[in-house]
Amino acid sequence: MPEDRAAALTDTLIDTLRARSADEGAWLDAVDAVARDVLTVEKANPDFAAARVLERLADPDRVIAFRVTWRDDAGRVRINRGWRVQQSNLLGPYKGGLRWHPATTLPVLKSLAFEQVFKNALTGLPLGGAKGGSDFDPAGASAAEIERFALAFMGELAPHIGPDRDVPAGDMGVGAREIGLLSRAYTLQARAWGGALTGKPLCIGGSPLRVQATGYGLVFFLCAMLDAAETEIEGQRIAISGRGNVALHAARKAGALGARVIALSSRAGLWHAPDGVTDAALDWLASADGDTATDPPGDLGVRFTPGAKPWGLEPDIALPCATQNELDADDARALVDGGCRFVAEGANMPLTAEAQQVLLRAGVVCAPGKASNAGGVAVSGLEMRQNAGFATWSPARIEGELREIMRSIHDRVAEEGRASGDGAPDYHRGANRAAYRRLARAVIEGGAV
Ligand code: GLU
Repeated sequence: MPEDRAAALTDTLIDTLRARSADEGAWLDAVDAVARDVLTVEKANPDFAAARVLERLADPDRVIAFRVTWRDDAGRVRINRGWRVQQSNLLGPYKGGLRWHPATTLPVLKSLAFEQVFKNALTGLPLGGAKGGSDFDPAGASAAEIERFALAFMGELAPHIGPDRDVPAGDMGVGAREIGLLSRAYTLQARAWGGALTGKPLCIGGSPLRVQATGYGLVFFLCAMLDAAETEIEGQRIAISGRGNVALHAARKAGALGARVIALSSRAGLWHAPDGVTDAALDWLASADGDTATDPPGDLGVRFTPGAKPWGLEPDIALPCATQNELDADDARALVDGGCRFVAEGANMPLTAEAQQVLLRAGVVCAPGKASNAGGVAVSGLEMRQNAGFATWSPARIEGELREIMRSIHDRVAEEGRASGDGAPDYHRGANRAAYRRLARAVIEGGAV
């Protein structure tokens, strides 16, 4: 039985990796999920098997771990941990975001770095994979504290990055403002401008549409999924979780293409707009203050419910855009019961493994983030191209290239995940296998090192 064989091969690999590390739950789970889809492909190809491709991709090339010491506004010394996981530079410079969030740990970053390698491979661009960050919490910090932390953080990281070495970008807690601070700190330390980070503010070498890229790309991917199912986006009721960059820009693009976005959310609760959120409501959500934003002005047509999630609102389409493991088995059952047909991940790994099983068993078509949220890193790749050529492209050119990249990711993934018969493609399997093949060929070309 192929499924039994995949499970046995995966168990052997995970045991080998576990023996080399301790307390690495999140990372081993991420490797496990990919191994089930690709190890049978590896064993069927003698070159891939001899090169031990997946085992090499699973272990990071290196982990840089450091202490970040800084002073808060009260003059007290504060200490955080910082990391950069340089997972693979087979296809190009290490590339991936920096996350500043109190729940950041090394195993979480290793799982995200491993995912990033596969995601970046799917873009077709010359990008390796990495992830980094700190357990620093920018949520309660003042602007001056964030600036002092950014300087101290980059003081440790700068020697390890550079435009053809490792190019960090933002992730949770790190937006254009923080990247601006980090980029300046890098320039001062390296004595070179360099374009060593992406997601920069436009006026210091950033790319048009980088801020919108993940959300817009998610909707372009969704349109390709709907096309493949001979469905249109127009008139679909879409529920989105989150109210950050990804969620807000996905909502704007989906609305512009004729969908009805009925909800967004945050850790604080749910904003429900039964008739669809308007641009004015999105402007209010974008400007309202973090977790304290509650009831919106009455004329915006949005109701706020503290503590609620958007999955029980019977959407046709769900776009989880908040954080990992935010959508559990109960949420998945609520989506199935409400008639949801498509789920595309805007966040990194927002579905628990159990939620995925519930949705797949019910025939809901699900796209994994490594394919559907690759628009952010894709435009980072375009930002690197612009920086290398000392150029700034027009927003229209970037939007056109992004649409093209998302369409081609979709088509490659759908082709690899094509089901026998006329069922929908298995996008998870397709994404893992399509990325694996590109990476495996690069491993073989590079020899044993
Ligand atoms: N943090 C984003 C991601 O998860 C962007 C990474 C980048 O642009 O390097 O893909």
